[in-house]
Amino acid sequence: MNEGAVATLGTEAWARRRHRARQLLEGHAFARGVLQLYEALLDVQEPAFVKARDDRPEPARVAVYAAARVMGDVGEATIAAGPPSLAAAVRDRLRDGDGAGLVGRWLAGERQEPVDEYLARAAAAPVLEALGPVAGDACSGRPADGGCPRCGGLPQLSYLTDAGEALVSGPRMLLCCRCGDSWVHQRMTCAGCGEQSTSKLPIFADAARLPHLRADACETCRRYLISIDLRKDPHAVPVVDELIALPLDLYVKERGYTKIVPNLMAIG
Ligand SMILES: [Zn+2]
Ligand SMILES: [Zn+2]
Repeated sequence: MNEGAVATLGTEAWARRRHRARQLLEGHAFARGVLQLYEALLDVQEPAFVKARDDRPEPARVAVYAAARVMGDVGEATIAAGPPSLAAAVRDRLRDGDGAGLVGRWLAGERQEPVDEYLARAAAAPVLEALGPVAGDACSGRPADGGCPRCGGLPQLSYLTDAGEALVSGPRMLLCCRCGDSWVHQRMTCAGCGEQSTSKLPIFADAARLPHLRADACETCRRYLISIDLRKDPHAVPVVDELIALPLDLYVKERGYTKIVPNLMAIG
């Protein structure tokens, strides 16, 4: 594949996310705020991705690079388009000025306050995506029970694909919360702890409002993640569609489950 083709592929992913966010804004009033903020972030992340692909920062310098080149714009977009409470928290954090520290902790797999994690994730994601396979060298903190083969990050969500043949299901994929890469994961196996006993893996759905989404939970580790079924909605873009799972998230949390990784907006 020549470089031109790679460039097009990379930018197409951003166009698909943008288009899908627009599409979902119609008909999902409960997710309006989240989707509007996400659109504002795309305006920052896409050019950051293109720039990082040209700059190719050294993996060891990703935290400093993302903090210096991306985080300020993420902050501005959030203050302009985000909910007032998040905007105020972001303003405080940017004043503190330890952007590289926030991103560094995210790349090391350390948990942080939601606002810190939000800033770190939103700034690091386009840079890690631009680095492709090298992104793994910028990350550490692999969980004991697996994680992303590329960077060791936890699964953000799962998605089911169409194998392209009737009656044949494609593989179940997990999508990394950190570098955005996907990997194949066994069906009916908890993405958090590996539990395989069907009776311990309840599935929750809101078929009326969110027919292509469901929550895959686990009674053993009490965690869950959202699954996006691309066979039911081929236009879905997993990372965007997960943002509208709010009603499902609330329902599952009320039953005492914790999401393996909250989504970018730190809501789920
Ligand atoms: Zn990863
Ligand atoms: Zn589990």
